[in-house]
Amino acid sequence: MLYDSPCPTTVQRLHSALTREFSNCPSSSWASGTGQVCPRAGDWPVRDFHCFALQLFFFFFNCFLLHRHRCYQQNRLKSHRHDTEQSTNAQLMAGGSRIKPKMNQTRTPASQATTEKEPTINKIALEEHFSIGELLPTSAELEFFDPQLLGVIEPLLPELAEQRLANMDKAGIEIAVLSQTAPGIQAIADSPEASAIARQANDALHAAIEQQPRRFRGFAALNLQDVDTACAELKRCVSELGFVGALVNGGTQGEYLDNPRLDPLWSTLEQLDVPLYLHPGLPTNQPASMVKELDGATWGWSFDTATHALRLIVKGVFEKHPNAKVILGHMGENLPFYLWRLDSRYASTRYRNDIGTTPSAVFRRNFFITTSGVCDDAALQCSIAALGPERIMFSTDYPYEDIELAGRWIEQAPIDPIAKTMICRDTARSLLRLG
Ligand code: ZN
Repeated sequence: MLYDSPCPTTVQRLHSALTREFSNCPSSSWASGTGQVCPRAGDWPVRDFHCFALQLFFFFFNCFLLHRHRCYQQNRLKSHRHDTEQSTNAQLMAGGSRIKPKMNQTRTPASQATTEKEPTINKIALEEHFSIGELLPTSAELEFFDPQLLGVIEPLLPELAEQRLANMDKAGIEIAVLSQTAPGIQAIADSPEASAIARQANDALHAAIEQQPRRFRGFAALNLQDVDTACAELKRCVSELGFVGALVNGGTQGEYLDNPRLDPLWSTLEQLDVPLYLHPGLPTNQPASMVKELDGATWGWSFDTATHALRLIVKGVFEKHPNAKVILGHMGENLPFYLWRLDSRYASTRYRNDIGTTPSAVFRRNFFITTSGVCDDAALQCSIAALGPERIMFSTDYPYEDIELAGRWIEQAPIDPIAKTMICRDTARSLLRLG
């Protein structure tokens, strides 16, 4: 039958022919009140009945054709989505485990991430913030934040007891590695004051860990205004307090970590064999293109942190310190998506340094990333394809992000179960030597 398998051309042709036929018939002008007589009709009332029936027929027939045309378009769209998913999965897991194709997995907006379900995987999360009272972010520092949202978040920062543990439970987080929130020590101009407050923040964190030794671990806050004191504090935190690394909130007073002055920090990290979490801070030099709408966590912080990470690579920090390990949050601050172009264009710049290999090779060798603040299947799949699941770790960015949503999302992410366990806990356990 003609309409069993309509295509747009057939449907449109029929629709046009019938419309033409209808517009040629004077009954249409009769219907509009001009009073002309349809030559195919007899005398009234037979003539009126004929014109009315003809219009009714055309009306329903047009409805039918439009319906068939819409069905055809929807089927084509479904078929296209299916093909895209098949091709993505095949590329993603080439040489590895297969992902079961499922509909609705190409993009999962946070609002629809998952259904309600009890967590089933015990997780370790690495970007979980707290704050001592002295370092609570000021309203000027978080000026871009929606004030209502900030009102909910701020009271959660100093809280290191029941409420935090209950929220961790909801996400299935067994261990949270806690860190002083941004901008933290990096925003303090006075060096002795920065040293004293860093020590105070680390002692407070240590006290919280002692209260919950099975649930909390810590990253040290460092006063990089004075690198020797910072190195001594890092050694104290790791050797005496049992911390598992350090977290630095962006540049320190406008100075980035590739500055040769900070070389002893990299040596100390290598010597202690602990990673440095490079978290966004408050950029001091914004690009001229930045606008308020994009500043902060929306885009500005990622831009600054990704640039910071790339500075470490192209300035040769890892040639000097090949065993240094850096963790980037927010799904690698968009870098996993960019690696091919990074190599391609770095090879073409006259300003390139000899780093012994490509920038992407250094990124794959010396960097880990976390999923903090990104609950997106597509971004996760891209990162797995670019780096391998062994370089990705679960995190939530509590209390700035929805911890429960992050936990549910990773549980249902369409990835290989072994890769998922690696991301949720195994890599963190081995990198941080959590036993
Ligand atoms: Zn964070």
